[in-house]
Amino acid sequence: MKLKYTYLPVLLAAVLFVGCKQKETTTASTGPVTTDDIKSHIAVLANDSLQGRKPFTAGETKAIAYISTQFKKLGLEPGNNGSYFQDVPMVEIKGTPTPTMNIAGAKGNFTLKAVEDFVIFSRREENAIQIKNAPMIFAGYGIVAPEYHWNDYAGLNVKGKVVVVLVNDPGFKSGDRTLFKGDTMTYYGRWTYKYEEAARQGAAGVLIVHQTEPASYGWNVIKTSNTGAKLFLQQADKHKSRCQVEGWITDSVAKKILASAGINGDIRALARSKTFKAIPLNMNVSVGITNQLKYAMSHNVIAVLKGTARPDENIIYTAHWDHLGIGKPVKGDSIYNGAVDNASGVAALLGVAKAFTQTSPKPQRSIVFLAVTGEEQGLLGSEYYATHPIYPLNKTVGNLNMDALGFYGPTKDISITGKGQNELEDYATAEAEKNGWHTVGDKKPGAGGYYRSDHFNFAKVGVPALDMNVGEESIAHPGDWGKKQSDDYNDNHYHQPSDNYSADMDATGMAQIANMMFNIGYKLSNETTFPGWKKGSEFKAIRDKSMGK
Ligand SMILES: [Zn+2]
Repeated sequence: MKLKYTYLPVLLAAVLFVGCKQKETTTASTGPVTTDDIKSHIAVLANDSLQGRKPFTAGETKAIAYISTQFKKLGLEPGNNGSYFQDVPMVEIKGTPTPTMNIAGAKGNFTLKAVEDFVIFSRREENAIQIKNAPMIFAGYGIVAPEYHWNDYAGLNVKGKVVVVLVNDPGFKSGDRTLFKGDTMTYYGRWTYKYEEAARQGAAGVLIVHQTEPASYGWNVIKTSNTGAKLFLQQADKHKSRCQVEGWITDSVAKKILASAGINGDIRALARSKTFKAIPLNMNVSVGITNQLKYAMSHNVIAVLKGTARPDENIIYTAHWDHLGIGKPVKGDSIYNGAVDNASGVAALLGVAKAFTQTSPKPQRSIVFLAVTGEEQGLLGSEYYATHPIYPLNKTVGNLNMDALGFYGPTKDISITGKGQNELEDYATAEAEKNGWHTVGDKKPGAGGYYRSDHFNFAKVGVPALDMNVGEESIAHPGDWGKKQSDDYNDNHYHQPSDNYSADMDATGMAQIANMMFNIGYKLSNETTFPGWKKGSEFKAIRDKSMGK
C-alpha cells in the first residue's frame, strides 16, 4: 500500500500530462476525425504492396478495394447506382515526335531539335500526325476572356495554322493589378487553357513560348512532363476536336523566330498593349508525331450518405487515390508510395466519412465521398466525374478537396489554394477564426495552384470548390520550423520514392484540415443556400448559367 501511495503523485502527474497532451491535440483538431484513423489508412495505402497506386496496375486494384471496403464498413451507400465504382475510360498515348521541327521563312530557315528546343504531343487518337508547311501566327497570350474584354483571336482565321502563344496572362508582372488579376494567374494563363482555346479556334497546332518566371517552372519540367506516355480520358470524337499538335518551344528559340519576323524586344509587353493584334510570321512549319495507343479502364470510388431533408442536394468531398507507381529508383527505392501525395487526402476523406456516419443529427443534404483516379496524369478522374456527373451539378453545393496534406502538425495559418475565388473560403475563414487561426492564400499566386488539383474540374463546370491545407506557422514549434518542413517536403520528397509512411509520421495537421473540412461540410449540409463565386472569378458565369440565373 505504502509503496503504491508513494507512486501516486507520479501517476497523477502522468495522467495530467497525458490529459494536457490530449487537450492540445483537440485544440488543434476541433472535430471528430482522429489522427489514429488517418494514420491507419495511410499505413495501408502507402504500403509497398500497393506499388505506388498507379492506374491499371495491381496497385489500383488494391487501393480501390480498400477504399470501397472502408465505405461499406461505415455503412455508406454505393454512390453510383448500386456500385461503389465509376468506370473511367482512358487512353494512353505514347508519342514520338520527328527529331526536328522545320520552319521555313523568307528571311531564313530554322531547324529545331526535339527535347532541346521543342516538345510536342498530340491527344488525337491517331497513329500518325503530320503538319506540313502550316503558316505560323503569333497570337499574343492566346486568350479569349469576355469578362476582361480581351480577345487575342479577334478577326483571326487560324484554321490549318500553328499559333505561337505566351504562357500566363497579361496581368502577370504588368504592374497593373486591374489587368486580369495582376500577378495572380487566372485560368487564362494556364497552359491547358492555351491548348483548349487554340482548339476552339480550329488551329492545327499550338506552341507555347516557355518563359521560366511566368510558367513558374523551368524547361526541365516541360521536358520530363512531355516525354514518354501520357494518359487522357477517352473521348467519343477520339480527340479530333483538339489541335493536331500541342507543345512548347524554348524562349531563346522563340525570340529568334519572332525576331526574324521583325518582332523584337519585350514580347510580353507587346502582347499586353491594348492595340495588340495577332501577327502572321510569314513562315511555315513542318513537324510530325507517331503515336502508340493503349486503351484501359481505371476507376473512381464513390459513396453517399443520403441527406435527411434535402437528399437531392449534395456536398462532394474529393481526394485522389492514385500516385506515380514504380519508377526511376532513387537511393535504391523505386516505389513511389505517395504517403503524403495523396494517401493523406484519402485517409482524411475516410476520416471525414466516418465522422459523418457518427454525427447527430444527420446532415440534411446528401454527402458524397469521391476518391478519384488519374490526378497525377492530368486530373483525369475528377474531369471524368465533372463531365459525367452522377449527382446534378446545379444541385451540388460545393466541392471540398484534400490533396497532399502537411505532415508536420497543425498550423495557425490555414492555406487556401487560389484564395479569392468563392464563398466557401468564407466558411473556411470563419472555421479557422473560431479556433484563433487564420487563412492565407497561395505563396506563389502566379503559379496557378488553383488549377492544379481535382477541385479545379468542379470549378470548371461552375461548382464552387475549396482546396485547403495546413500552412507554415506551426502551433507547436516557433519560428520558421513549419516553413522548413514544408520546403523540405517540396524540395526533397515531392513526387519522389521517399514520400513514405512511417509510424512516427505526424498526422495531427492532417486531422486539423480533415476536421475543418468536416465542420464546413456539415454546416453546408444543414443550410438551404448555395454559396457562389466571388466577383471577377472566371467561373462565376458558368455557375450562373447552370443555376438558371
Ligand atoms: Zn502529386
